[in-house]
Amino acid sequence: MKKISIIVPCFNEEENIKLFYTEIKKTIDSIKNLELEIIFIDDGSSDRTYENIRKLNAKDQRVRGISFSKNFGKEAAIMAGLKSCCGDCAVVIDADLQHPIPLISEMYKLWLEGYQIVKGIKKNRNNESKFNIVTSKLFNKIMKHHAKLDMKDSSDFNLIDRKVIDVITSISEYNSFYRALIYWVGFKTTDVYFTVSRRNANKSKWSFSKRINYSVKNIIQYTYFPIKIIEIIGILIFLIGVILGIDALISYFGGEAASGYTTLLLFLILATGGIMISLGILGMYIAQIYDEIKHRPKFIIKDEIKN
Ligand code: UDP
Ligand code: MG
Repeated sequence: MKKISIIVPCFNEEENIKLFYTEIKKTIDSIKNLELEIIFIDDGSSDRTYENIRKLNAKDQRVRGISFSKNFGKEAAIMAGLKSCCGDCAVVIDADLQHPIPLISEMYKLWLEGYQIVKGIKKNRNNESKFNIVTSKLFNKIMKHHAKLDMKDSSDFNLIDRKVIDVITSISEYNSFYRALIYWVGFKTTDVYFTVSRRNANKSKWSFSKRINYSVKNIIQYTYFPIKIIEIIGILIFLIGVILGIDALISYFGGEAASGYTTLLLFLILATGGIMISLGILGMYIAQIYDEIKHRPKFIIKDEIKN
């Protein structure tokens, strides 16, 4: 008998918990010799998410709950779930039914065939805004060229083997990025494709600034691309300086007074701007290092519902 753990990060998902449970039960109960464990992680919801998890647990002991002391973010919720699960394999999945639950059967079949990671790849992204599509394309390009991780159309909907769970939970980064870790750890991997359905109830919890912040943090964590930008800015300012210098020397030896209050001013503005941008980029790296060395916990558990 094998056991599968379903890890579900939830932030204000009171309307989805019951429906999600019903769907999961339908899918997993139709697979032979497979034991189920569902772990809902309540990421500091202000609605009745946790009460609903408790109600389910009273009916079905296979449902467990973890409640955070405040909203720590989806990444923290995923890690908490992976740390506390005890399945032979685990599936991370959204509570809002955007990830097709029946696909878990196919993922499980591939796992039985020996694949240690089964990645859910998004087939169509019709529901997403143009802006999201463009920015995630840019993000993927940077990750592909500078971190050597081809994360095109990747999602958090993946099945991973116990070995992978143990590796991922042993990585003690404060700013962890589950989706990239899946690509980074290696192992025997395959893909399944799915269509992202519309969100069931409520709006996406991802604001514009959250999304940008998340991408920038991850680019900084996995690549030195922003440092390369500093190098390019430095080289450009240096080249402009050389050209202006040569021009000034020619004027000087030609007997003319060096022209140039405006040129001087422009160059100063350019150089200061360049230096400020570079300091900003370095600052972002330092902030991430600071986050790491503080060794704060990624999440704080307020309460647990166990069987
Ligand atoms: N989520 C979470 N903490 C957060 C934001 C979201 O646990 O701070 C959960 C949310 O309840 C859902 C999943 O992460 O189960 C995906 O969130 P959402 O649907 O808002 O994101 P999107 O589908 O737009 O990427
Ligand atoms: Mg969603």
